[in-house]
Amino acid sequence: MVSDTTTITLALSKGRIYDETLPLLETAGIQPLDDPETSRKLLIATNRADVKIIIVRASDVPTYVQYGAADLGIAGKDVLLEHGGEGLYQPLDLEIARCRMMVAVENEFDYESAVRQGARLRVATKYLNTARAHFGSKGVHVDLIKLYGSMELAPLVGLAEAIVDLVSSGNTLKANNLRAVEEIMPISSRLIVNQAALKLKRHLLQPMLDSFSEAVGKVSR
Ligand code: ATP
Ligand code: MG
Repeated sequence: MVSDTTTITLALSKGRIYDETLPLLETAGIQPLDDPETSRKLLIATNRADVKIIIVRASDVPTYVQYGAADLGIAGKDVLLEHGGEGLYQPLDLEIARCRMMVAVENEFDYESAVRQGARLRVATKYLNTARAHFGSKGVHVDLIKLYGSMELAPLVGLAEAIVDLVSSGNTLKANNLRAVEEIMPISSRLIVNQAALKLKRHLLQPMLDSFSEAVGKVSR
């Protein structure tokens, strides 16, 4: 499904991604006509009649773009790894919403010797694919427990020995008596584009991609 070839739809999530995307849009000459933080609108018009923005959950952005309901979007690498990236062209790391995917445990838990002894660990996370790949490559046996949020609570109430979560300042870990024991990977947000839309709407999409590349200091392709 690719909607009409005279307009483009950009999928964004509220909060940090939206806030950090605004300056990039500005460089492409695009100004939203509503603020999603104060307006309840999920479909936002811009100063350009040919560009509209939809506001969706961060983890839903790749799905909207995959099916062509949005032509392009911005999503964290964490979200893209869980989604799988099917049908998506990922031309650019925008280097926004930066943080790190980490393994964390309670301060008192001896993670290093548990791993050394080959113990089986219960790991609570929203990021099943990433966690499975990480512990698999280290040869650590884990039972993964899927959560949708507040992973920091799991070790404190005995649901799991470890969590896999995003960390930026580390203050949330500290406030909950947790410590990071491994960095899995650095995370930032990427531009994603529907592959069919890129062919059918290149005249509209390419100038936007070029402005974004320029804004993040990369040579456009
Ligand atoms: P929700 O908060 O609605 O449950 P979410 O946590 O996926 O969904 P955000 O908190 O807006 O949504 O996070 C969006 C993206 O920003 C994440 O996918 C990740 O790439 C990045 N991110 C998450 N937490 C941080 C953080 N503490 N610092 C910097 N970037 C982050
Ligand atoms: Mg969040």
